[in-house]
Amino acid sequence: MELEIIKQENDKAQFILKNIDNTYANTLRRLIIDEVPTMAIDVVEFEANNSALYDEIIALRMGLLPLTTDLKSYNLPDECKCKGEGCARCQVDLKLSAKGDQTVYASALKSKDPAIKPVYPKTPIVKLIGEQDLVLTGIAKLGKGKDHAKWSPGHVSYRQMPIIEIDKKWEAQDECLEVCPKKEFKILEKKGNKIVVNNDKLMYCTMCDACKSCSNGAISVTGDDKKYIFTVESFGQLSIKDMMVKALDVLDTQCDELQALL
Ligand SMILES: [Zn+2]
Repeated sequence: MELEIIKQENDKAQFILKNIDNTYANTLRRLIIDEVPTMAIDVVEFEANNSALYDEIIALRMGLLPLTTDLKSYNLPDECKCKGEGCARCQVDLKLSAKGDQTVYASALKSKDPAIKPVYPKTPIVKLIGEQDLVLTGIAKLGKGKDHAKWSPGHVSYRQMPIIEIDKKWEAQDECLEVCPKKEFKILEKKGNKIVVNNDKLMYCTMCDACKSCSNGAISVTGDDKKYIFTVESFGQLSIKDMMVKALDVLDTQCDELQALL
């Protein structure tokens, strides 16, 4: 297996994984979005709410706030010593108290643990007017994306690396360079009187087949079933690296479990 990193930003990464197959690529994608735990508010206890929004709507909005996640200090509720009853090792309270004319933002949530707080403090929760008030406690727990999308750590997608082949007998037509919708990358370029593939830019080909139609099939576009271009985007709870490493840990544990059973 080989890894080539194309782009690495705080919350987005793109890389090519070589010498894997479609099954492995999809396993990795599903492990990341379904099995990597993150923190999210799961229960909201209201003391006061006379805002324009019902308790249920506010609770739903609270659940969808991405929270920074510390995987080392917290257990999944059903793997915790308290057996899911709730303790400092598996849940954390975030309190909110607001009154009077204002927009209540996620930053108003005061967490018991500074490591667990809203990733985007400027997310609006509700607008209060006059004497309206909102007092609540959100209880955040670790959970998995397979149980609810609010626990998913991000988006993952992948596609095959394109392979473009050009029939050597074909009399190159310049208009076939023009039909490519990714013109700016110059995936196909003119060399002498031939059209050739620019391998450095090949990954930007979306396999739309425009060049294939233009050349009456003299240019063929297929996918490489051993090379996959991955795009991983984090919602902010975990870094891209933590998401990937945790996903592989989960795969490791699942394989160990199966081995023990056998
Ligand atoms: Zn516990």
